Amino acid sequence: MNCLSVRAHQLPLPVFMPDATFGYVRTLSAADLKSVGLEAVMMNAFHLMQKPGTTVINALGGLQSFSGWNGLIMTDSGGFQAYSLIRQNPKFGSLNDKGIVFFPEGSQRKLLLTPEKSIQIQFSLGSDILISLDDCTDISASRAEQEQSVNRTLAWAKRAMQEYDCQLASRKTAPSERPLIFGVIQGGGEADLRKKCAEGLLELGFDGFGFGGWPLDDDSNLLIDILAITRSLVPRQFPIHALGIGHPVSLVRCFNLGYEMFDCALPTRDARHGRLYAMTETNTNLDENGKWFKFSYINNEDNTRREKPISPGCTCPVCSQLSVGFLYHLFKMRDANYARLATMHNLTFMTQLIGRLRNNG
Ligand SMILES: [Zn+2]
Repeated sequence: MNCLSVRAHQLPLPVFMPDATFGYVRTLSAADLKSVGLEAVMMNAFHLMQKPGTTVINALGGLQSFSGWNGLIMTDSGGFQAYSLIRQNPKFGSLNDKGIVFFPEGSQRKLLLTPEKSIQIQFSLGSDILISLDDCTDISASRAEQEQSVNRTLAWAKRAMQEYDCQLASRKTAPSERPLIFGVIQGGGEADLRKKCAEGLLELGFDGFGFGGWPLDDDSNLLIDILAITRSLVPRQFPIHALGIGHPVSLVRCFNLGYEMFDCALPTRDARHGRLYAMTETNTNLDENGKWFKFSYINNEDNTRREKPISPGCTCPVCSQLSVGFLYHLFKMRDANYARLATMHNLTFMTQLIGRLRNNG
C-alpha cells in the first residue's frame, strides 16, 4: 500500500477527504468523523479567513484545537472558490498578477488574497497539507486565457514556495514537522499547456500536485482524456489530487488513471438531501462500468418497513444497528438525526470503498 508521509502520520493512499469547508462536516462531530474511519478532511483557507477569521481560530489554538479534529487537515488555497465566485458575478472581485481581489458577500471591504498571504494563512491555521494559490479557468476558456492562467499559476507557485520556505525558517520548523505543499496543474484542455505547468511546478519542488479546474464537463462526465494526460506528466512517486471528485464511480475511474487523493462535498450533501450510496451486491468487482453502484433514495415509501441495510456490508450505525425504516421515519419527521445518520452512512460507504481500493491496489 502506498503511503504519504505527513509530519508524524503515514497517510495510506488512496484517500477520500470530505469537505469540511468551514472547519466541520455538517451535522457531524469530530468523533463521528473518526468513527466512520476517516483519516483526513479538506478545509478551506479562503472561507475560514472570513468566517470566523484567522485571528479567532488562532486564539482558539489553531484549526485542530478549534475543530476538535485531530486527524490530518488539508487546506484549499481559495483559488477555485475565488474563481467560481467571481465567475458567477464579476462584482465579487477580479484577478490580476498580484493576486485575487474580492469583496466578500454583503461587505464593502476589499480583500486581497495573494500567493504569499494564502501560504501565511494556511501555515498559521496549522494545516498539514497546504495548496499553492492558482489561477483557475474553465475548460471551455480560450487558449489565450489558459495560457495566461498557466503563466500566472507558475508565477504564483514560485512566490508561494518562497513564502513557504520563509515560514519554515522563521518558525524554525523541524524537517519532520513541516507541512506538505501541493501545486495545482492548470492548462484547461490543452495538453501542451498542462505539460508546461506540470514541468514548471515539478522544478519548484512541490510534494504533490492537484488537477486544476473542474474535472467534469457540463453533463457531469469526467474529462478522462485530459485527466489521464495530466497524470502522465507527473512521476508516479508524487501523489496527485483530483479536487471535487466524490461520486463513487468517478472516484474509481480516477484511481485507475493514477489519482490517489480526493475531496468532495457530494457524499455529505447527497446524504442530507436523501440520496444514499449503495453497492448492488457485496464484494462485486469495482469495474469501470459502475454497475456495482446505485443510489438509494430514502424518500421512497417502500422504505417504511424496510429492515435490511442500505448497502450490503456497510458498518455505519444505520446499517449495523438500526433499520432503514427508522431512518425513513426520521427523514419524514424532519429530525436532525436523519442528516447525521445519513451522512455517516455515505461517508462509511466512501471509507469502505477506499479500503477496497487500498487492498486491491
Ligand atoms: Zn450504512
